[in-house]
Amino acid sequence: MRATTLLSKILGLKATRVRGVSCDEKGLIAEVAPTTRIARCSGCMCRVRAVHDRRERDWRHLDVGPYRLRLRYAIRRVDCPRCGVVVEFVPWAESQSWFTYDFEDHVGYLAQRTDKTTLSTLMRIAWRTVGAIIERVVPRHRPADPLEDLTHIGVDELSYRRHHEYVTVVVDHGRGAVVWARKGKDAATLGTFFEELGKERCAQLEAVTLDLSAAYIKAVTDASPQARLIFDRFHVQRLAHDALDKVRRQQWRAADAEDKDAIKGTRFALQKNPWNLSDVERGKLADVQRTNRPLYRAYLLKETLAKILDGGQVNVARDKLLDWHAWATRSRLPPFRTVARTIKKHIEGIVAYVATGLSSARSEGLNGKIRTITRRSFGFHSASSLIALIHLCCGGIALAPVHR
Ligand SMILES: [Zn+2]
Repeated sequence: MRATTLLSKILGLKATRVRGVSCDEKGLIAEVAPTTRIARCSGCMCRVRAVHDRRERDWRHLDVGPYRLRLRYAIRRVDCPRCGVVVEFVPWAESQSWFTYDFEDHVGYLAQRTDKTTLSTLMRIAWRTVGAIIERVVPRHRPADPLEDLTHIGVDELSYRRHHEYVTVVVDHGRGAVVWARKGKDAATLGTFFEELGKERCAQLEAVTLDLSAAYIKAVTDASPQARLIFDRFHVQRLAHDALDKVRRQQWRAADAEDKDAIKGTRFALQKNPWNLSDVERGKLADVQRTNRPLYRAYLLKETLAKILDGGQVNVARDKLLDWHAWATRSRLPPFRTVARTIKKHIEGIVAYVATGLSSARSEGLNGKIRTITRRSFGFHSASSLIALIHLCCGGIALAPVHR
């Protein structure tokens, strides 16, 4: 068997012939060419005889044993009557890429399953290159129309880059998968989703889970007025957590030296679930109870709200939320009065959460997974790489290792 025949078999590339093989200090080089002689325009795929110029280029392909392998070909730029001067189509890679389809798909498979360091080391590419690669992998493997058949969806915002930037994510509760994501977090951002969904499919939405942000509420009610709004527990509870933290800071500023001592180091003890407290933290809370009534009241308000949201019966939950509203309003704690107003305004959407099966661990699990991915995306160049990673890992994309 000739070396080029063997290599052609190893490469396993369609519509590609191997013309020669060599090696340099970086590894093996396969000299290749498309099997068709007349170039195709990479823009419109039509055959173009007018060659503008040609330039040698290398593409990384899957390794052969311990060696890197590159494909080398003098790629032509053609003068296409429709697209202008563009590079020709090659069967082994996307026109903008310096990696073959097989290499990129293999990276995608690993990015779904393994950590940054393993992936970068194994494939010998930088993490930010992984970001650029999966931006191409995702469109090739996503379902043709992920927005088909949506009835129960969830909208959430994700912050990244130390809370300076945001991405809006839409999940399908039915499939437990991310179906849409875009940079930004205002009403216009989410409005784009509903535009893409179209009038007919907007009318088919039955329920939307979301946080209590006015921007999202407006976008949903404008586009899908019939959909039931459901505010998830996680976000309602976060309002109370934030209010408690505000009270703690106010009390700290107003306190004298001795009272400051009692407040010092209570932040985590106050926010934790009571059954997770250490002995030291329990002691801290007892100090607060003794010395700082307003702060302890805020703590009880936060804890009670959590218990109400834990309950399983809608009418009981509604009554208890109204009691809680009255208590918070009388509490003389302005941050909690604000929370009380918000809760009263959206009470039906909050009890709807208790009523529906959407309080499932499954959607919370998906949320947790998206947040882990966001942390993992650190080092990527752009929001589009983060969004691609979210689709890759939570969008129901099935990839297999490249085996022949
Ligand atoms: Zn063209």
